Amino acid sequence: MKLLYKILLCTIIIMAVAFGLSGYLFVNFVFETALNREIAQALDGSNILQFAFETAALNVPTKYNVLQDIAVEQIGAKLERSGRLSERCLRLSGEERKILYVSDGFPEDTSLLMQIPEDARTWQVIQYGEHYYIHTGIRVNALNRNLYLETLEDITEIFEERTMGFSVYRRVTLAMLLCSSAVMLVICIWLTKPIRLLTRATRKMAEGDYSYRARQMSGDELGQLTMDFNHMANVLENTFDELREEIRSREDFIAAFAHELKTPLTSIIGYADLLRSRKLDEEKHFLSSNYIYTEGKRLESMSFRLLDIIVTKRESLDLQPVEVETLFQYLEDMFSGNMEQRLQASYEPGTIYAEVNLLKSVLLNLVDNACKASEEGGIVELLGSKQEDGGYVFQVKDYGVGIPEDELKKVTEAFYMVDKSRSRSRNGAGLGLALCVEILRLHNSELTIESKVGKGTCISFVIPGKKAEVI
Ligand code: ATP
Ligand code: MG
Repeated sequence: MKLLYKILLCTIIIMAVAFGLSGYLFVNFVFETALNREIAQALDGSNILQFAFETAALNVPTKYNVLQDIAVEQIGAKLERSGRLSERCLRLSGEERKILYVSDGFPEDTSLLMQIPEDARTWQVIQYGEHYYIHTGIRVNALNRNLYLETLEDITEIFEERTMGFSVYRRVTLAMLLCSSAVMLVICIWLTKPIRLLTRATRKMAEGDYSYRARQMSGDELGQLTMDFNHMANVLENTFDELREEIRSREDFIAAFAHELKTPLTSIIGYADLLRSRKLDEEKHFLSSNYIYTEGKRLESMSFRLLDIIVTKRESLDLQPVEVETLFQYLEDMFSGNMEQRLQASYEPGTIYAEVNLLKSVLLNLVDNACKASEEGGIVELLGSKQEDGGYVFQVKDYGVGIPEDELKKVTEAFYMVDKSRSRSRNGAGLGLALCVEILRLHNSELTIESKVGKGTCISFVIPGKKAEVI
C-alpha cells in the first residue's frame, strides 16, 4: 500500500474514533444531565405527594382513630385527579405492602415496593412497554398508619432524545469524516510530493539518466533528503564522468601503444627481410642492421619506460633527504659529452626530500626533451632555487622549437608527441613526460609548462618541504 494511502487511512481511523467517542460521550452527558434532572423532579413530586397525602389524611373526620382503606382509596383518587394534567400515575399500599389504590396503567411489578426502606425514599428507572419511567417509592405516615406511596413519571422523551442525538451525531460524524478525508487527501498528496519526486529521480538514474535531479520543495527533513540525494547524484555523475574519461584515456593509450609498436616493428621486419632475401653490399648491410638495432633499442627503452610508469603508478615512496648539489652534478656529468647543446646549471644549495633515482629520471627526461627541442649549439638551462615555504623549484629552460598552446595539456599524455617524425627520429616514444608526471605525483608535485612556439620552453616543478612529504 502506498505511503499516501497509509497516512490517509490512519488519519481517517483516528478521526473516526475521536469523533465517535467524543460524540458518544457528549450525547451521553446530555442524557445523564436530563435524566438526573427528571429524577430530582420525580423525587420532589413524590415528596409533595407525601405531604399532600398526609395533609389530606388529617382532614379525614376524627371519629376514626385509624385511617380506613376506603379513605386511602379516596385520597389516592383525589391526588391522581389533581395531577391529571401532568398525567400523574400513583399506587398506594398498606402495611403488608398490600395494594390499596393503583392508577390505570401502573405496572404490576412490585419489586420497588418491596424495597422501600422505613425511613428513606427510593427510585428506579424502568421500561414498561415502549415507554421509560422513573418509578419512586416513599413511606407515608397518616393517622397511625404506615403506607407506601409510589409514583411513575414518563421519561420516554429523554431516551428518544438520546437515540436522536446518536443518530444526528452519526450523520454529522460521517459528513465531517468525508470532508476531513478530502482535506487530508490533499494534504497527504502535498506532503508526499517530495518522496514522489525523489522516487522519479531514482528511477531516472536507474535508467541511466545521471543528470536528472529531484526538485527540492521545502527546507524540512524531506527537503534535506532531496538535497543530499542531489548531492549524491552530483558525486556519482562526476565519478561516472571520471570513469568514462579514464576508460577513454586507456583506450587512447592502448591505441597509441599498438601504433608505437607497429612502426618500429614494420621497419625491423622490412630490413630483416631485406637482409635475408638479398646479398647487400657492406654499407647497405651495415645500414640495414643498424636500423634494426636502433629501432630494437627504441622498443626496448619504450618497454622500460612503460614498466617504469606502471610501477610508479602503483607504488608510494619512502622520501629521503637529498642534497640538490648531487643532482645537478649528476646531470652536468651526463650531458658534458653532448656536443650539440650546452647545459648551463645554476642552483642554490639545499636539501630536498625525494627518491633520488626517480628525481634524476625526471630531470634527465626534461633536459633530454630540452636538448631535442633545441637547435645545434643551443643552450639548455637547468636552474634550482629555494622557496620561502621550504620547497625547492627546479626549472629546465630551452630556446628551441617550443610547444603550441593547444598542445600544452596533451604533451603529458602517454605516447603523445607534437611532432611525431621529429621525436621518433630522436628515439622518442612520447613516454618521458607521462613518466615525469607519475613520479612527481608521488612527490606531491606537478609539472608546470610554459612555452612559446619558436622561442622556447620552460618546464618547472616544486619539491615541497618536509611537512608535505606525506603522500
Ligand atoms: P621519450 O621521452 O619517451 O623518449 P618524447 O621525448 O618524445 O619521448 P615526452 O618526453 O613525453 O616524449 O614529450 C612529449 C612531447 O612533448 C615530445 O614529443 C615533444 O613533442 C614535446 N616536448 C616535450 N618537451 C619539449 C620541449 N622542451 N620543447 C618542445 N617540445 C617539447
Ligand atoms: Mg622525452
